[in-house]
Amino acid sequence: MSDAAKVMRRCDVLAACTEEPGGITRRFASDAMGRAHQYVREWMLEARMAVTRDNVGNLRGRYEGAGKGTLLLGSHLDSVRDAGKYDGPLGVMVAIAAVQRLRDAGKRLPFAIETLAFADEEGLRFGSTYLGSRAVAGRLDAAELQRIDADGVTMAEAIRAFGGDPGRIGDDRWTGERPLGYVEVHIEQGPVLEARGLPVGAVSAIAGQSRFEIMFTGEAGHAGTVPMDRRRDALTAAAEVVLAVEAAASTEPGLVATVGRLDVEPGAANVIPGRVSFTLDVRHPNDRTRASACEALLARTRETARRRRLGVEVRAVSERASVACSPRLTKLMGEAIGGRALEVASGAGHDGVYMSEITDVAMLFVRCKGGISHNPAESVTEADVGVALDVLSRFLELL
Ligand SMILES: [Zn+2]
Repeated sequence: MSDAAKVMRRCDVLAACTEEPGGITRRFASDAMGRAHQYVREWMLEARMAVTRDNVGNLRGRYEGAGKGTLLLGSHLDSVRDAGKYDGPLGVMVAIAAVQRLRDAGKRLPFAIETLAFADEEGLRFGSTYLGSRAVAGRLDAAELQRIDADGVTMAEAIRAFGGDPGRIGDDRWTGERPLGYVEVHIEQGPVLEARGLPVGAVSAIAGQSRFEIMFTGEAGHAGTVPMDRRRDALTAAAEVVLAVEAAASTEPGLVATVGRLDVEPGAANVIPGRVSFTLDVRHPNDRTRASACEALLARTRETARRRRLGVEVRAVSERASVACSPRLTKLMGEAIGGRALEVASGAGHDGVYMSEITDVAMLFVRCKGGISHNPAESVTEADVGVALDVLSRFLELL
C-alpha cells in the first residue's frame, strides 16, 4: 500500500470515531476523541515518535533530530457536527506519514519534529475555538474553564474526565527555544486550486475576521390596517442591508461578508416586523481593507435606520487580525511544490492563528472537491494526498 493510500485509510478509521453513528461528530474531550487518540498514538509510536498527551488533551509525538531546534507539524482532530473526513485529521495523518518516511529511511534531520494533534479547533463543544493551539501558545485563560457544554458539563470537568489536569493548563504552553516553525497541511475548503487544476498550493495568509450583532427596532403593527407610508418595518430595512453586504463584498477583491442569522420579531404572517436582529461576518486577508469595509457597511446600516426612522444597535462581537504566513517558510514551501506554485489566502481560520504567536507559520492546502468542507461530502483524492506528502517531505529536507 502506498503512503498516500495509508493516509486515506487512516482518515477512514478516524471517521469511525464518532459520537453520532452514521455521521462524523468528534467533540473536544469526548469518548470519540479518546478512541481516535488510541489509533493516533499507535501510528505515532509506529513512526518511532515519543508520545505524550498534555492537559488540554493535545496528543504530541516527538521525533528527535541530530541537532538542536524543533519544527512543529500539526492540525486538529476535533470536528464540526456532521463533518467530513479530512478537515483536520488529514493534516495530522500527512505529518505522521512524513515522519514515518524518515524513520523508514533511518534518517534523522538536524532538528526534531514534533507533531501536534490538537484537541479542539472548531469549538463545537464549548463554543470557544482553538482550545488546543491556544493552550500551546499560552493563551487559554483560566476563566474559560468555567464554560459549560450543552449537557451542563464545565470545560474543567471535561478536561479532568479526559485525563488532564485543568489546574495545570499553563504547563501545556511551549516553553523551549522558539520553534523553527509551525507547518500545517489542510484541505483548501475553497474552490481556487480546483479551478486552476492544481493539487496543492502554499498559503499566503489566514484572513482576519470581524463579527457584529446588529438590531433594528421599528414598530410592530397590523399587516392589514397600517398604510405603507406609515410603517417602520425592521425587516425591510434588514433586507436592504443584507443586499448591500452582498454587493459590497462582490465588488472588493478578496472580501467576503455574510449575514448568517436573522431573527424576526414578533414573526407572524399578519404582523409588521417590529424588531430584527442579525449577524454580520466580514473577512479579508488585509486588515485595513477589512476595517474600511466594516466601516462602510456599518455606515450604510445606520443610514438605512435613519432614512426608515428605526432604532439601530450595533455590537462588535469579535475581531481577529489576519495572520500572514512566514515569507521565508512559504517561499521554501513554494520550492518544495516546484513548477508554478500558487499562493492562496485562507478565508477559514486555522490553528496557525495562535501558533503564529510563538513561531513562524506556513500552510499547504490540498485541493478538495467542489471546495466543499464542514460537510460529509468533503472529498480529496489519493493522488493529491500523495503530492502533499511528497511536498512536505521535500520541505523538511529543504529546511
Ligand atoms: Zn480545520
